Amino acid sequence: MTGRDRRTPERTAREALEMHLVQALTRCESIAVRDHLQAALRYCRELPPTPLVECPVCGRVGLPERIQVHDCSEDTGRD
Ligand SMILES: [Zn+2]
Repeated sequence: MTGRDRRTPERTAREALEMHLVQALTRCESIAVRDHLQAALRYCRELPPTPLVECPVCGRVGLPERIQVHDCSEDTGRD
């Protein structure tokens, strides 16, 4: 059984958080814990989208985790 796409490691922190909460929910054996996990998941999905940041070097705009690792030299065209 496969189905995991490992070609997209650039998961956002929020997507990772949601994934871990879902995983925890599937393994949780306590009703009290499950309630907390479901609440956490609900709040996680209500969070506002991650604000985009601008690279101070090349001016590219994107998710903070993408901007941190991007290559300023692969410029798509500046003005
Ligand atoms: Zn840059």
